Amino acid sequence: MAMWDQRYEPVIGLEVHAQLLTQSKAFCSCSTKFGQDPNSNVCPVCLGMPGVLPVLNLSLVEFILRMGLATHCSVAPRSTFARKNYFYPDLPKGYQISQYEEPICHGGYVEVELEEGRWKRIGITRIHMEEDAGKSIHDLDVDTLVDVNRCGVPLIEIVSEPDIRSPREAYLYVHKIRQIVTYLGICDGNMEEGSLRCDANVSVRLKGETKFGTKTEVKNMNSFRFVEKALEYEINRQIDLLESGEQVVQETLLWDAGQGIVLPMRSKEEAHDYRYFPEPDLVPVVVTQEWTDRIKETLPEDPTERRNRFVAEYNIPKYDADILTSEKALADYFEAVIRGLKTKSEENCKLASNWTMGDVLRVINTEKIAVSDFPLPPAHLAEMLNLIIGGTISGKIAKDVFEDMLKTRESPKVIVEKKGLVQVSDIAAIETIVDEILAKNRQQVESYLSGKTQVLGFFVGETMKATKGRANPKIVNELLRKKLEGRKE
Ligand code: ADP
Ligand code: ZN
Ligand code: MG
Repeated sequence: MAMWDQRYEPVIGLEVHAQLLTQSKAFCSCSTKFGQDPNSNVCPVCLGMPGVLPVLNLSLVEFILRMGLATHCSVAPRSTFARKNYFYPDLPKGYQISQYEEPICHGGYVEVELEEGRWKRIGITRIHMEEDAGKSIHDLDVDTLVDVNRCGVPLIEIVSEPDIRSPREAYLYVHKIRQIVTYLGICDGNMEEGSLRCDANVSVRLKGETKFGTKTEVKNMNSFRFVEKALEYEINRQIDLLESGEQVVQETLLWDAGQGIVLPMRSKEEAHDYRYFPEPDLVPVVVTQEWTDRIKETLPEDPTERRNRFVAEYNIPKYDADILTSEKALADYFEAVIRGLKTKSEENCKLASNWTMGDVLRVINTEKIAVSDFPLPPAHLAEMLNLIIGGTISGKIAKDVFEDMLKTRESPKVIVEKKGLVQVSDIAAIETIVDEILAKNRQQVESYLSGKTQVLGFFVGETMKATKGRANPKIVNELLRKKLEGRKE
C-alpha cells in the first residue's frame, strides 16, 4: 500500500555516486587506501598546487566502461573533462574535475523486478567520471578539521532518467546498481560507509498530467532503507504543499535520519552555479571499438541472467536463486559447493542451497563479515554435504560438524572420524538398542498397543538419546514401528 494521496503520482530520478576500487587516485598516483592517517595520501596534484598537471588513470576509464557496457549504455568515442568550480574547505583546488557536456557513457538502462515476473526498465541518462572531494570533520573541541586523503579518489556518477514512480522502485533501482557495481568488482557497494551515495530528485503531479512538477533534491541518505523513507516523506510534503495551494520550491534538502524528516540545505542558485568550463589540463578521452570489445569480453555474467540460470540448471526455487545471486561472491561460493558435490541431483542442489542460504549466510550476517571472508572453503562444505548425502552423518549431526569446522577449520571427514559421529545405519546394532528400550518401557508399550500411537515419538527420542544422535532416524522409525505393530497380534 502506497502511503500518499493516490490522486498524485511521484516522479523520481536518481543520481548515484560510486567510489571506485582503483588502487590509485583519478589523476595522480596517490593511494586510495581507506583509513590512513589524515592527509597522508596526498601529493601536489591532488592538493591542487599551482603548476601541476593531472594525468588520467586508465583503470578509471576501464572501470566506467565496464559499468557503461553492463548497463547497455552507448560509449562516446571521444569525451572530455570539465571543471566544476565551487568553494568548500575540503576542496583545496577550488574545483572538481568532472565530465559535463560530453560524458563517456549515455543512454543505457537497468531492469528491476517490481514483483514476480513483472519487470520495469529504468533509463540511465549518463554515466560520467568525477573525482571526490575531501572530508571535513566537525570536532566540537578543536573547530573543524579537514582530511584531504579522499581528494582525487575516482567516482562515477550514474544519472537516471526520471522514470522511477515510487520509493519502492527507487529502492529496487539502487539495489540493482549496487548489485551491478559489486558484480563488476568496481565498487564495494557499501552505502553506510559512503562508497555508494545516492541523491534523489523528486516531484509530484496529478495522475494523468503529462508535464513534470517542480523537483527537489534529497541528499544524505546513507542506507537503502533511508532512500525509501526519505522519498516517502518528501512526496507527502510536496503533496501537502500543493493541496494547501502553495508551490514546491526547487531546493536541495537533507534527510535527517534522527528526526525522520528532510531539511533545506541551500538554495538552487548557490548550489548549482558551478561555472563549468572545459578542463584545460587533460586531453579528451578516446575510446576505440577494440577497447570496448575487449572489456565486453571480460564482463561477468549478468546477475539476473545468473539467477535464471541457477533456476534452470540446478532446479532450485527462484527465491533461493535470488538470494544466492544477490552478491557475486555468494553466487561463486554456491557454485563452488555445487562443483564439489558427488552427484548434482535436484535434491542435492537444494541441500547445497539450503546450507549456503541458511548456515553460511547466518554466520556472515552475525559476524558481519564479507562473503569473501567466510572461513570455510566451499570444498569443505561440499565434502560435508557428500557425507550427509551418502548417509555417513545425519542432517542433525551435520549442524554440529559445521560448528566444529568453523572453530577448528578441519575438514568434515577428520571431524566426523575424530568425534565418532558416523551415523549408525547397521540395522542389527540399532535393533539391539531398540529391543532394550522397548523392554525398559513396558508402560509406554502398553499405551501404544492400546492405540496411543503417538508414543512412537517417545521411543524414537529414547533411541536417539541412547545412540547420542548417531542412529539413522529413518531406520529407527521403521524398526520401532515394525516391532510395536508386531506385538499387536
Ligand atoms: P539539474 O539540472 O537540477 O541537475 P537534471 O535535469 O540534470 O537536473 O536532472 C537531474 C536528475 O533529476 C536526473 O536523475 C533526472 O532524471 C531527475 N529529474 C529531472 N527532472 C525531474 C523532475 N521534474 N522530477 C523528478 N526528477 C527529475
Ligand atoms: Zn595525489
Ligand atoms: Mg544535472
